[in-house]
Amino acid sequence: MAFLSGFIAIIGLPNVGKSTLLNQILHRKVAIVTPKPQTTRNRVLGIYHGQGFQMVFIDTPGIHKTGTALHRSMVESAMATLQEVDTILLMVDPRHRHPPVPALIMNKLKAVKKRCIAAINKIDLIKKDRLLPLIGWLQQEGNFDAIVPISALKADGINLLMAELKKGLQPGPRFFPEDMVTDQSRAFLIAEIIREKIYYLTREEIPYSSAVTTDRLDYDSEKNLLYVSARIHVETEFQKKILVGKRGRMIKSIGTAARLELEKLFDFRVYLDLFVRVEKNWSKNTSALRRLGY
Ligand code: GDP
Ligand code: MG
Repeated sequence: MAFLSGFIAIIGLPNVGKSTLLNQILHRKVAIVTPKPQTTRNRVLGIYHGQGFQMVFIDTPGIHKTGTALHRSMVESAMATLQEVDTILLMVDPRHRHPPVPALIMNKLKAVKKRCIAAINKIDLIKKDRLLPLIGWLQQEGNFDAIVPISALKADGINLLMAELKKGLQPGPRFFPEDMVTDQSRAFLIAEIIREKIYYLTREEIPYSSAVTTDRLDYDSEKNLLYVSARIHVETEFQKKILVGKRGRMIKSIGTAARLELEKLFDFRVYLDLFVRVEKNWSKNTSALRRLGY
């Protein structure tokens, strides 16, 4: 039997559970998850290695109507991704009001003419009788090769979904080596996890106005300790004040939460130095975005 492989784009509105699903499939955190929308800014590559096959997942930023340069760059990258993959996995939240998927996305899916699977996520949160009308709507409005109800969080229906995704693989190369789960660097993952903690611990515009970069990573093998120096970029002095908090309490909480998570992820202790820096209008400024890696 020939080796099978393929690229799969995970798309859907912000907050439907794309990153949660990817982490669940890979049994490892490669994408940050937050209760607030629009947290995934970069394309994340996750690689699933099966017996005789390989699936390469791309976690796109949410596709939605936009304003700022940051939003525009997110949507453009999501759209471009669809052209490059073999299968599109559309995720739907059954609690969303009608229509559950915007026309913008449904039209795009029909236009690209790829294998399309719909996953109705978060079924742990709804009554079963909500499912049938939604499945009917998807069958009528879309052109899906399969519609699979799942709970990414509770790992329900994942095997069925994986079986459907596997049908779309083609004889092809092993694109990535077997020990590679993601294409993200350790520095990037660390920055993302710090960003995730900012989402959890701060409110209103603060998460959306923050970007994180890691400036220094030093591993001390004798002490089994990773020294990390990272910077949180915000847009105004006011945001900086909130992020630092009274007597540095907020920045300390963010640092502690991030460190604990990092120590769980890696097998070493982590020493984390966090700084906050004001970078005026970074989210509206394309060159600032590029410098911050978006
Ligand atoms: P993304 O923006 O599409 O990547 O969504 P995330 O993966 O970041 O998830 C958004 C929120 O939905 C988080 O709070 C997740 O814990 C939650 N979530 C994701 N999948 C499920 C699910 O199957 N069930 C429940 N109850 N919550 C979920
Ligand atoms: Mg995400």
